[in-house]
Amino acid sequence: MSAARPRVVIIGGGFGGLFCARRLARVDVDVTLLDRAACHVFQPLLYQCATGTLSIGQISRSLREELEHHENVRTLLGEAIRLDPAGRRVTARRPDDSTFDLDYDYLVIAAGMRQSYFGNEDFAAWAPGMKTLDDALSIRRRVFAAFEIAETLPPGPERDQWLTFAVTGAGPTGVELAGQIRELATRALANQFHSIEPEDARVLLFDGGDRVLKTFAPDLSARAQRVLEDLGVEMRFGVRVSDVRRDGITVSPKDGSPDADVATRTVLWTAGVEAVPFARHAAEVLGATTDRSGRIAVDADLSVPNHREVFVIGDLTGRDGLPGVAENAMQGGMHAAACMRRDLQGKRRKNFRYRDLGSAAYISRGHALMQLGPVKLSGLSGWIGWGFIHIAFLTGVRNRFSTVGTWLATIARSNRSDRTFILGGSGHPEEPYTWESPVHQGGSSRDTSGEDKTA
Ligand SMILES: Cc1cc2nc3c(=O)[nH]c(=O)nc-3n(C[C@H](O)[C@H](O)[C@H](O)COP(=O)(O)OP(=O)(O)OC[C@H]3O[C@@H](n4cnc5c(N)ncnc54)[C@H](O)[C@@H]3O)c2cc1C
Repeated sequence: MSAARPRVVIIGGGFGGLFCARRLARVDVDVTLLDRAACHVFQPLLYQCATGTLSIGQISRSLREELEHHENVRTLLGEAIRLDPAGRRVTARRPDDSTFDLDYDYLVIAAGMRQSYFGNEDFAAWAPGMKTLDDALSIRRRVFAAFEIAETLPPGPERDQWLTFAVTGAGPTGVELAGQIRELATRALANQFHSIEPEDARVLLFDGGDRVLKTFAPDLSARAQRVLEDLGVEMRFGVRVSDVRRDGITVSPKDGSPDADVATRTVLWTAGVEAVPFARHAAEVLGATTDRSGRIAVDADLSVPNHREVFVIGDLTGRDGLPGVAENAMQGGMHAAACMRRDLQGKRRKNFRYRDLGSAAYISRGHALMQLGPVKLSGLSGWIGWGFIHIAFLTGVRNRFSTVGTWLATIARSNRSDRTFILGGSGHPEEPYTWESPVHQGGSSRDTSGEDKTA
């Protein structure tokens, strides 16, 4: 360790990185929090942003603003691209493609997971995932534009394609998205079109398992399924989406029955997660083992074997089946900070113990699930509990107040206040009007940073 104060570099300002940085504010170290997006995103509410209830500003907060009173913490915009464990140096890329180096005594890798297409990266061009603000805005554009395009078409198969929405993955995110699109179609949009009937929109939810929300108890999952059926969501289980194209998908049943093509112009992908590219590189140069999705194996104190100075926290942690949920990331961040403090005090590190504070999933207006040990809530009581939890953990007091205000207005008026979507504006070749162009596809700026999660 260097003679000056120990330098801590944290990669990623999600739940794990942010909680680690906050906890280190009281420790005698200099902290650099590096994030490729410079803001903390409250991922559990991304779907509300995608479907027009909340704005991106309500579910995110600038890390610089969030940490402005933590004098020993600086925040930097940049994407970690290289790790030199022997030299204890991280190289980061700025958005203009230039690079800079950060030296560390302690490194905390909290870069999260990104959507996985199971090796079919070409699907991403037609089927955005749901991990970043870019994803949420891309989904918003596709969903609202699909209704608008359908309005301009005569009745027939082409219009029907635009009014068919396919969602892959029946975990919490897929369920939330599917339910929200049907709610949009049957409430907020119901009386606003002249040519189409928005409530005719079909929402298809595909999953390889045999029920929705399989991390929840079977009775809760069955209740969620009934609510979705009442909403009009069509569920297909025991299937895999094996191809995604501009104008449709192919669905392959796991029992070997023949494949079926579904004509749709809107596909939303929530089916799997994998480690961000930097994490895979880091694992390799650190000589660490990873699981199939790229989670990095760590010792009981969350440090990488043979690298006591490197911690892996949050979704990237590969140990004891730790869940990919916000609570695990927050507790991991605070634990890594506590280990560093104990090192400086000459005390032995403690092992990480995850305390399960339960899971929650939103189904539709007035319906959510909550599960904590033997306590199971659904319907209205689950919905109220879900609301309290999400407000409690949303970053920033202003965001909490404005989100509660927006929710109350949405409940009272059934409208969506953040429906604005952006198409290319200038006519410049790099800003085309149509999103089905190489520029938009290449520029979807997928985060290098989920299987689906619950609270
Ligand atoms: C749609 C959705 C809904 C969810 N709902 C719930 C829920 O209801 N309850 C719940 O408990 N959990 C939920 N989760 C899971 C929860 O959000 C994650 O478990 C949690 O965010 C993980 O925290 P993390 O710090 O490990 O990673 P993240 O929060 O993903 O943060 C990673 C950060 O690292 C940054 N980053 C990535 N790569 C780099 C790089 N190379 N260089 C620099 N920065 C980088 C990213 O910009 C990001 O800010 C949900 C997740 C999603 C996607």
